[in-house]
Amino acid sequence: MNRREFTINEPASGPICDFCSDPRIFASYPAKDFTAGQFTNPQGKKLAANSRGDWAACQRCTELIEAGRWTDLLERSIITFKAKYGERIPAQFLRQFIADLHRQFRENRQPVH
Ligand SMILES: [Zn+2]
Repeated sequence: MNRREFTINEPASGPICDFCSDPRIFASYPAKDFTAGQFTNPQGKKLAANSRGDWAACQRCTELIEAGRWTDLLERSIITFKAKYGERIPAQFLRQFIADLHRQFRENRQPVH
């Protein structure tokens, strides 16, 4: 476990929702590449999420995005991120980490048309 960073868009078996990891993709959001959520954990390890390309979203997450319900989306993501990356992201950083990720997603989203 010497990796200094990880990439959130690294589906092992096909695309998944980038917000909650649901394998049933409903929409794709074009976005510019960005790096978010950079922090150093208590062990001195630097962590960051590198976002590359489009963000995939399941139907439920798409509904939350389209409704601008970012707090609800954040809560939903925290639960699934904890299950998926729990050992890599200390609990006290998780909310801050995902909030930053979602904020940068909003800032780097590209118009579909
Ligand atoms: Zn989702």
